[in-house]
Amino acid sequence: MSFKDIYSKYKDMELDKILREISKTRVEMALDKEYPDENDYLALLSPAAESYLEPMARKAHELTVRNFGRAIVLYTPLYLSDYCSNKCIYCGFRADNSFDRKKLTYEEVEKEGKAISKTDIRHILILTGESEKHTDLEYLKNCVKILKKYFSSITVEIYPMTTEGYKELVTEGVDGLTIYQETYDEDIYHKVHLKGPKRDYDFRLDAPERGLEAGIRRINIGALFGLSPWRKEAFFTGLHAWYLQNKYTEAEVYISFPRLRPFKGEDLDYIHRVTDKNMVQMMLASRLFLPRVGLNLSTREAPELRENLLPLGVTRMSAGSVTAVGGYSGEDSGVEQFEVADHRSVDEIKSLLLKHRYQPVLKDWEMLS
Ligand code: SF4
Repeated sequence: MSFKDIYSKYKDMELDKILREISKTRVEMALDKEYPDENDYLALLSPAAESYLEPMARKAHELTVRNFGRAIVLYTPLYLSDYCSNKCIYCGFRADNSFDRKKLTYEEVEKEGKAISKTDIRHILILTGESEKHTDLEYLKNCVKILKKYFSSITVEIYPMTTEGYKELVTEGVDGLTIYQETYDEDIYHKVHLKGPKRDYDFRLDAPERGLEAGIRRINIGALFGLSPWRKEAFFTGLHAWYLQNKYTEAEVYISFPRLRPFKGEDLDYIHRVTDKNMVQMMLASRLFLPRVGLNLSTREAPELRENLLPLGVTRMSAGSVTAVGGYSGEDSGVEQFEVADHRSVDEIKSLLLKHRYQPVLKDWEMLS
């Protein structure tokens, strides 16, 4: 069985109608449960649950402290390349956007890695546009070899690979994989991914599982909230995390909640805007349904909101982020994949966490050779 089987069970159900018809009594029942199931999760995502955000927040906070303590792991993203062979209509890096593209040389990778490591952060997320031609496996392995000198944990956010490809990265020292389905709605998926290998919905959907089969120990999934109605998107994201956690019990599973940000060439007229209140509800519902899944919050969100979301279940945050290739050593391409909303440095984020009595964790993992 794969996640597609679970997805198929729900995708043709009238989820909009079911969500609309959920009563307050049903929400209260879900809120009282020690182990909510997928139907309770739907109730917590429903419009009726909007009146229960305060009790949901209290429970989410308790569950988070019980399972994770008051610790938040920090990481910094490093963009290696902005070449991409896909045409995702919501992204500044898409293949038909014309700008001077950049791919870091190995010397530049070293320079960027060194610059980031000066902040004492030991978790790095390396990203590329999705072009196997420009950032092939050999290039990625060589970058990992360089960055291993500076970082104890390396996560990749790259094009989906085969299990064999992921195995080679794990052997080189990669321990984490971030891959977003963008949208679980297959029709919308094909409408927003116009060209390129990314049009293969199923290959992407199974990528987290291939990574875990290959020995990845930390997996981070999510949807790009704004491409389709958020309640359904959050439901399928949570189900996916639940499936992975139950099947790969040794893995750490994370969910991210990226929302669409302004980007170069934006001309979308169909965005399903996700408000801050919606964002709060989906995080709380996810925490209540999945008490042991990590929740990740990136610098796409504004400083004030990130601060307010902290006690609701966040366990991992990016800090000191730049989303242009070469951005840390001042030799960037000038084009960011999306606009960063929180520009605070690692030191500033550390101070913020301490102010709220959270422990900033710069390193929680080291591979023994
Ligand atoms: S979202 Fe990723 S795959 Fe799509 S255009 Fe941007 S970089 Fe390429």
